[in-house]
Amino acid sequence: MSKILWYVNPLARLGLRRYSFWFPFFTTVTTYILTDMYAYQIAHAPDSIAAFVIFISTIYIIYFSFRDGIRGGITAVLTTVSFFIYIIYTRQYSGARLQSGVNTVIILGVLYLFLASIIGWLKQTIDMFIDQEADQRRRLEAIIQQLPVGVIIANSAGQAVQVNQRVEAILGVKIPLGSQLHGERVVNAYERDKPVDPTKTLLEKALSTKKVVTGKEYAIKRGDGKPVYIQVSASPILNGEGKVIAAAQIIYDITQQKQMEQLKDEFIGIASHELKTPLTSIKGYTQILERIIQDMGNEKATQYLARTNRYIDRLSSLIGDLLDVSRIQAGKLEFNYEEYDFDRMLKESIESFQPFTEKYKIIKKGSTKKKVHGDRSRTEQVITNLLSNAIKYSPDSDKVVVSVRNGGDWITVAVRDFGIGIPKSKQKNLFKRFYRVEDISQKFSGLGIGLYISSEIINRQGGKIWVESDEGQGSTFYFNLPISRKVRA
Ligand code: ADP
Repeated sequence: MSKILWYVNPLARLGLRRYSFWFPFFTTVTTYILTDMYAYQIAHAPDSIAAFVIFISTIYIIYFSFRDGIRGGITAVLTTVSFFIYIIYTRQYSGARLQSGVNTVIILGVLYLFLASIIGWLKQTIDMFIDQEADQRRRLEAIIQQLPVGVIIANSAGQAVQVNQRVEAILGVKIPLGSQLHGERVVNAYERDKPVDPTKTLLEKALSTKKVVTGKEYAIKRGDGKPVYIQVSASPILNGEGKVIAAAQIIYDITQQKQMEQLKDEFIGIASHELKTPLTSIKGYTQILERIIQDMGNEKATQYLARTNRYIDRLSSLIGDLLDVSRIQAGKLEFNYEEYDFDRMLKESIESFQPFTEKYKIIKKGSTKKKVHGDRSRTEQVITNLLSNAIKYSPDSDKVVVSVRNGGDWITVAVRDFGIGIPKSKQKNLFKRFYRVEDISQKFSGLGIGLYISSEIINRQGGKIWVESDEGQGSTFYFNLPISRKVRA
């Protein structure tokens, strides 16, 4: 039944481009034969059917033009006109009647042809557009299926309308078309241990905010137990009027990249550990040697050895930094909390740093008169790092200003230099691991981890670190710390 309905319904056949000749031909011919038979055999009034025939033929021409294009319409026009001629012939019209009959047939024929051409052309144009659109959709679908990333497209109601094969390969779950994407299953697949507010899924966010949500990383456990790391972003799809009609979610499998990073971190950890042990022995022996040579009174050798000691210290601090990086990555950077005098710690840090540089004067401004609960030596490490950067990146200056102030329960330290400064566009990356401003990295040596470690140390103590700088205008690095555990919490 539904097949018959589909066959006769012109709307269902839109876009099909399958135009029939026989269906309009047989339908019209059969109708006209039956009508004629009715007029002769049942009604016994051959002319009584004229109005009905004009009415039904108009309907047929419209219907077949729309169902079967120009070809269907013209078929219906031809059978209709032939039937009219047949009627004129069989009813034996003559004189004025014949003339008016012929005129009517000509006028109706032209009108019908016009109607069939217009409607048929309209139908064929619609078919062509629908076809083109379908072609485009197929092309897009083929591309989406072949993409190396997972793609989920949801309609404005948040239901999946397109899902490529990679999604299942990455997540290990099948997302059926039509499923609600803030539903439990998909969300749980993303966020392993956390209950998730469904309104906060990325697709939902893209749909509701009309904004692109970029690269969130998740560690998930797939259905088959395999751990995978994915990066997910979502973007809204807007129509011509700027209304959200859908959203696309892209899922990248970054497991391999993460594993490589882990291997690299492990390697850095092991290598720096292996380097540190012999270096500690070297340091011990040079100190013994220094004392022996001092006793011998050889001044030149004492000087050389002092220099050697300074290089050993530098090497040891570099290795210490690398070890810290691998500890941070493994979540094993330890903190020893104690109560300490902040002003004293700052003064001592500056005093122990000053001997390393004769050219630069480190000026201290302000005081806090506060006791702070935190890790004293880790905070010292941050100050030393900021001071050594301030000097390293200020080749044409001769001073660094360290100021400190306290506002209530917080202490803020600022380390200001008058050096090369940092372009605004680079500042957001400064505290990332291994980041160095490219344009100057050839000129100044370094590993790009000092600020990363510093920010971890400050953040873990509940504080914040930031920078204010302009290219060529020097830089000021700030950090603040809470004075007590209560404030930190
Ligand atoms: P490193 O100094 O070893 O490269 P850091 O993590 O300490 O690593 O610093 C990261 C980058 O930030 C540096 O490479 C440098 O480009 C920039 N930078 C840090 N401190 C300053 C400063 N005081 N002035 C100018 N640029 C700085």
